[in-house]
Amino acid sequence: MENLQTLADEIHAELSAREDRGRVADYIPQLATVSAQKFGIAIAPLDGPVAVAGDADEAFSIQSISKLFTLTLALGQVGDRVWDRVGREPSGNAFNSIVQLEHEQGRPRNPFVNAGAIAVTDIILGGHRPKEALGEILRFVRFLADDDAINIDRLVAQSEQAHGDRNLALAHFMKSFGVIKHPPAEVLGVYFHQCAIAMSCRQLAQAGLFLAANGRNPRTGFNVVSARRARRINALMMTCGHYDGAGDFAFRVGLPGKSGVGGGILVIVPHRAVVAVWSPGLDANGNSLLGTAALELLVQRTGWSVFG
Ligand code: GLU
Repeated sequence: MENLQTLADEIHAELSAREDRGRVADYIPQLATVSAQKFGIAIAPLDGPVAVAGDADEAFSIQSISKLFTLTLALGQVGDRVWDRVGREPSGNAFNSIVQLEHEQGRPRNPFVNAGAIAVTDIILGGHRPKEALGEILRFVRFLADDDAINIDRLVAQSEQAHGDRNLALAHFMKSFGVIKHPPAEVLGVYFHQCAIAMSCRQLAQAGLFLAANGRNPRTGFNVVSARRARRINALMMTCGHYDGAGDFAFRVGLPGKSGVGGGILVIVPHRAVVAVWSPGLDANGNSLLGTAALELLVQRTGWSVFG
């Protein structure tokens, strides 16, 4: 296999020229202030230096990629009781859909659609004040990435808070079924801030390493989760990590991944590496257009798809 730095440089050079980059999300107005020209990639192998190219060291809004970290945290806190409240099936619906919730008595399909992630945040809130829960999430992400410089972009959080009616509706709806226990405004206060965590591709790739290495971060030596739990989280990323685009992502890339509307995608290459890409323009399903193309190219060059 070729050198990872050469690979990152090649992918960056080949895709940078592309004009069709999709649409930057604007339903959270602050996200629309980011240039569609941004493009970064970081490839972190289990051992050896991280290869980066483009804007890989610029922090961006991780948005739904945070759902991966909160799920891991909630599983650590209450174990499999998470699944009493949230399902494990792909939704086939948009990330913020409310329709399915009514059919399924307020129980979200999976922890990566908005409703499911809001229910997971409600679990983390159990017994805490919102500020403490948020502090716990931020400390956990810093611990995973081994980087205390990671922070929350308050402007993005405020912007989402001011335009978060649909998420608020999801939360109220779930509360009426007893799926969430805390006041919706408190749960969403935490949720909007977790989504507004800002990280670079390099930091994200480091934070995901435990999922590629049987639950143990190979750089810090810390056991984050058991090997079985890491495998299961990867399975959920594969089936549910790209909303109603999950099937297409598996077809084109073939790796467990989680996307966010900030334009980031984090993918796990079990037993080999973690890759993070960022390009803010999104496709119709809300997943990074150039980022997906970059991962498709990476898998073609490396043969890293889990499907052989
Ligand atoms: N904070 C965003 C929302 O709840 C996250 C969506 C995403 O990244 O897909 O709408």
